Amino acid sequence: MPGVVKRSSAKANTHLKQAADLGSYGAMINLAATTFRREDVTQTQTAVKYATLAHHYATGKTVNNANLLLGDIFQKTKQQDENGFGPSLNLATHYLGLVVKNDPNAFNGVAASQYSRVLMEKSENLFGDRCMSGLNEIPRAVYWMRKSLAAGNLDAKGVISRMESMETGKCSACGMTEEESDKKFLRCGRCKIYWYCSKKCQLAAWEAGHKVDCKSTFC
Ligand SMILES: [Zn+2]
Ligand SMILES: [Zn+2]
Repeated sequence: MPGVVKRSSAKANTHLKQAADLGSYGAMINLAATTFRREDVTQTQTAVKYATLAHHYATGKTVNNANLLLGDIFQKTKQQDENGFGPSLNLATHYLGLVVKNDPNAFNGVAASQYSRVLMEKSENLFGDRCMSGLNEIPRAVYWMRKSLAAGNLDAKGVISRMESMETGKCSACGMTEEESDKKFLRCGRCKIYWYCSKKCQLAAWEAGHKVDCKSTFC
């Protein structure tokens, strides 16, 4: 039939690749995203390649699209391809960190939420439920989940209350619980996550590394 163009995803892909190779940032991101969404592990390198090109060359807000996509790829890809491209929580943290550093409200708070989640996942992988002082990413994760809510992502609300309740009523320095003690526990006024049985325990925890964990908002 004249005037009718047949749908062809292979052709669309060829055109997309041509546009990307000619330097269109939108095409680079588009190609990387479709390749990633196909969940073909042998193609991870291609997805990373085009998203990285966009990361380097795109300007303005488009850079955030590229970085969010790179964060997505490294966080959610299931396994490594034959060239070693695959999941990496460190790289996911890096790229999502760039997005929120550039714009804390990016994608209406969805980027901040994803950054927070990848920090939590990294923390669980490294330490289980006992984080090492000075290397603890949980205050940062909570900070970004709060930012996400402030930017309009209402899904963050429940996550924040779960995060805040994890440590409630437990001295994070000596382990005593508020039930075992006759005193009212003190909460860190900055991160509002950790609790202490006494000023002494609070100071000890601060010096042992909480002053690093509590203050840094980026990795
Ligand atoms: Zn204590
Ligand atoms: Zn704190």
